[in-house]
Amino acid sequence: MIKVYENFDFSRVGQMQSLLESHGIKTFIKNQYSSSVMGEVPFVEVVPQLYVLEEKDFARAQQLLQLDLPAVQPDEDWVCAECGVDVEGNFGRCWKCGSGRD
Ligand SMILES: [Zn+2]
Repeated sequence: MIKVYENFDFSRVGQMQSLLESHGIKTFIKNQYSSSVMGEVPFVEVVPQLYVLEEKDFARAQQLLQLDLPAVQPDEDWVCAECGVDVEGNFGRCWKCGSGRD
């Protein structure tokens, strides 16, 4: 079994499971019934985790999950061409001189 996804939101993990199963990938959710023991075991152990049963399905499962997940990767920081300051990637404009990104 290989873990392909985990999320504290169990319904989200369930959605991912349906997605993979609908593509014929066999999956397994670990910690599915953990809410009853919340507080008695270390927190990390109760995150619902989605596994694929067969190693050969792993790459495909990851691909499917990535298609479905919103792109949450933050933009990289950039350097203002006008004044040369570093600007955080989530800003489209320089905080110092106001010029646009590229
Ligand atoms: Zn600037």
